Amino acid sequence: MAEKIIRAVRGTRDLLPPETELWNHVESTARRIFTRYNFGEIRTPIFEDTQLFARGVGEETDIVSKEMYTWEDRSRAQSEKAQSLTLRPENTAGVVRAYIEHQLGESGLLQKLYYIGPQFRRERPQKGRYRQFFQIGAEVMGPQSAGSESPLRDAEMLEMLTSLLDELAITGWTLNINSVGSASDRPLYVEALRKALQPVIGRMCVDCQRRAETNPLRVLDCKVPEDQPVIETLPRIADSLDDASKAHFAAVCAALDICGVPYQRNHRLVRGLDYYTRTTFEFTHGGLGAQNALLGGGRYDGLSEMLGGPKAPGIGFAIGADRLVLTLQAQQAEQASLPPDLADAYLAPMGVVLDAPALSLARELRRAGLRIDLGDGSFRLKKSFETGNKLARQIILFGEDEQQSGIFTVKNFANGEQTKVAREHLVTALKSIEK
Ligand code: AMP
Repeated sequence: MAEKIIRAVRGTRDLLPPETELWNHVESTARRIFTRYNFGEIRTPIFEDTQLFARGVGEETDIVSKEMYTWEDRSRAQSEKAQSLTLRPENTAGVVRAYIEHQLGESGLLQKLYYIGPQFRRERPQKGRYRQFFQIGAEVMGPQSAGSESPLRDAEMLEMLTSLLDELAITGWTLNINSVGSASDRPLYVEALRKALQPVIGRMCVDCQRRAETNPLRVLDCKVPEDQPVIETLPRIADSLDDASKAHFAAVCAALDICGVPYQRNHRLVRGLDYYTRTTFEFTHGGLGAQNALLGGGRYDGLSEMLGGPKAPGIGFAIGADRLVLTLQAQQAEQASLPPDLADAYLAPMGVVLDAPALSLARELRRAGLRIDLGDGSFRLKKSFETGNKLARQIILFGEDEQQSGIFTVKNFANGEQTKVAREHLVTALKSIEK
């Protein structure tokens, strides 16, 4: 009996060429933009102590209460207690842990760090929502004396994000922003919200009934249509902000106005992680369907202290790279006529004795920067042509004659033109073909 096929685990997937070309394009564009804004890369471990997320993201959040991949690590000596470890569901807590651990604040400068990598959440998979997904994110944090609380940092980050989306030619996004208040004024709002929820909660969905108890802010996130009219009657966070938070938010908006960055104020944008303070934001895209958030982020002025570190206000974001790629694919499908991604040439040895000399020629051409697909001397001429036509824009025939004379036959698949080219001119001739 044939063995059962083993498939990728639900909610995970393989990324294959040519899609991975798009991933590389997205990642290299992000790296270029981050460098332009003077960010440096940080790579933190993929798993961390579970406590980091429990304390940093919040016990009551959906992420920590339901979605983490956690296990007891038994690899330590028998005498030691097993350690609870978790695959990172997000990267901000890890970056802040590293900031504290390596005393990055000691430099007295702002730390501007970006990361690119996989995150893990046990969510119900659907289009744009996976259990292993990829985030491209950045954090700006540091001691207050470095200006880490300045609204300029918030505005600069948002402006950078619009530049990244423009550079990727992603159109049709909407930037939603809000302020969720500081550590001191947010509890007042949460109290007001609790009070306002009491008489109406019975009419709301079961999730809201749970949230009203555990984390009332999350009621504002509810998408259930029947709950929307009730939510509209709830107090707004903007009315509970203290003067300092109001001024901070006004300064962020003013800087965005001056830069011409378009945004919408969305008083219901609270986001799912507990550590946010003051500015929160989300970029959405209509083309994504139900999972329409391209990226999200916000300020987390108290997070470092929650993790036992020094005061180190900061702001960050995470882009769902899977969703960026989905958006680009949809845009490309609309443009339809993208040229196929082909090698410059297919080098066809005509006989197995020519395999090794052909490898040597391929090495020479590749070292000159050409993209070469090397054929197989056991193929008949017809098969070499058929294969070459699928993989490359032109074919180089490498037979006994060519080896002796050093003159190669090169055929351009697009126009059928066939030319003879001396070995020393091959690189120039192959490069001159239009892409
Ligand atoms: P968060 O870390 O929840 O603030 O999410 C930031 C961004 O990551 C979201 O706007 C999404 O683009 C992306 N994201 C979050 N969860 C998932 C997931 N399960 N699958 C794909 N992308 C996700």
